[in-house]
Amino acid sequence: MKFKKWLKTVKNLGLVPDMLKAQDKIFTNIYGNNSSNLKSSLNRGNWDSTKYLIDKGRDWIIDEMKSSGLRGRGGAGFPTGLKWSFMPKEVKERPHYLVVNADESEPGTCKDREILRHEPHQFIEGCLLASYAMSANACYVYVRGEYVNERYALQKAINEAYDSGLIGKNACKSGWDFDMYVHHGAGAYICGEETALLESLEGKKGMPRLKPPFPANCGLYGCPTTVNNVESIAVAPEILRRGASWFSSLGKPNNTGTKLFCISGHVNTPCNVEEEMGIPLRELLEKHAGGVKGGWDNLLAVIPGGSSVPCLPAEQCQNLSMDFDTLKELKSGLGTAAVIVMDKSTDIVKAIARLSYFYKHESCGQCTPCREGTGWMWRVMDRMAKGNAGVEEIDLLLEVTKQVEGHTICALGDAAAWPIQGLIRHFRPEIENRLKK
Ligand code: SF4
Repeated sequence: MKFKKWLKTVKNLGLVPDMLKAQDKIFTNIYGNNSSNLKSSLNRGNWDSTKYLIDKGRDWIIDEMKSSGLRGRGGAGFPTGLKWSFMPKEVKERPHYLVVNADESEPGTCKDREILRHEPHQFIEGCLLASYAMSANACYVYVRGEYVNERYALQKAINEAYDSGLIGKNACKSGWDFDMYVHHGAGAYICGEETALLESLEGKKGMPRLKPPFPANCGLYGCPTTVNNVESIAVAPEILRRGASWFSSLGKPNNTGTKLFCISGHVNTPCNVEEEMGIPLRELLEKHAGGVKGGWDNLLAVIPGGSSVPCLPAEQCQNLSMDFDTLKELKSGLGTAAVIVMDKSTDIVKAIARLSYFYKHESCGQCTPCREGTGWMWRVMDRMAKGNAGVEEIDLLLEVTKQVEGHTICALGDAAAWPIQGLIRHFRPEIENRLKK
C-alpha cells in the first residue's frame, strides 16, 4: 500500500498521533542551525525562570516530573520522577550526587551527542534543576571517550554558565550552590552501565557492581547518587516550565512526551529527529528519513531500539507504534530509540553475528555466563553466518542464550542474548535453509 493511502487509513482508525507540532518540540537547535552559546540559548528560552522553578521547591519539581510520565531516555524506560524520589529526603553525613550518563555507546544511538554539541545550556539547566530536586550540590557528567568535540562544547557552555552566575555559588541567585564537572571516559561500552560508570568515575576499572545496594543508597564514593541519561535531564526544564500536563498530553498513556529517534541503516536520509512517542514506525521513516531504500516493500527487518533489542520482521512493522509498551509486547524494546533499518539486501544472520562479536568484545569478563557465553554465542553465530553449522545447533544456541539471559551481574548478558533470540524467533527458516545448503 502506498504511504499516503496507508497514512489515511491508519489515521481514520485513530492509530496515529498527529506529527509533532513545531511549538511542542523541546530541542529547537538539535541540528545546530543556531549557535550553542549562552546568548543564543537564552533567545531560545533556556534559563528562563530557572530561579522561579527552584523557588517552587524540591517536592514540587519531583511531583511534576512524576506527573509528566517521563520515562528514562537511556534505554530502560524507568520513570524519571520516581527515580529522583528514591534519593534520601535529607542530606546527612554523606553528600548527594547527580551523575549524568553521556557514555552513549549503544550501537545505532547518536542523540545525546547532538544535545551536548548544540543544546548544552538546556542540558546544564536540567542538571541544576535535577540536582536541586535531589539535594545534590555537585553533578558529574561522564562523557564517552570518543566524544572529544562534545566534551569541548559542554565544557565551554559550563564555563559560560559559571561566568554568568547561572551555576556555581548561589546558582541563578537561588541560594543553592551547584558545581558541575565533566569526566571523559576511555571508550569502553560497559561504562554505559550505571554502576560500571560509577566505578570508572572513581578511577577504577569499569566493572559493574552487584545490586543491591542501588546507587540511590550507595553510589558515587559510597554516597546517595542518581544516574540519569542526558536526554532525560535535558527535557526536564521544559517539562517544568510548560507543566507536566503539557508533556503528558503528548504521546500515549504510559508512554508520554517526545523522544529523539536516531534512524540509521537502509533509509534514504538517516537522521536524528524529535517526534512524539507512539509515532508509527512507517510514518517516522517516510517523513523524516526519506523512506526505506527501494520502498517500504523492500523492508526486511528493523532493530527498533539500539543493537541490544531483538529485531522485528517487516510484517510486524506495518502499523508498529514506537513506544515502550508496544515494543515490549512484541518481545523487543524501545531502548534508546535507535532505529536500525535493514532492507532485503541484508544478510541478517551475518548482521546479528556481527553484533554478537561486539558484545563478546565488550564483555568485562567478570561473570562466567557472560564471559564464556558471549564468546561461545559469537563463534556459533559466525559459523551459522558462513553456513558451517548443523541445523540442530539452532536450538542449542537458543538454549544457551536463555542460560545467559538473566544470569549475569549486568544487562550486557541480556544484550548479547536478545538479538540472537530475535533472529531465531523471526528468521529461523532463513537460518535453516542456509545450513541445509
Ligand atoms: Fe561484565 Fe558481562 Fe557480567 Fe556485565 S554481564 S558484569 S559485562 S561479565
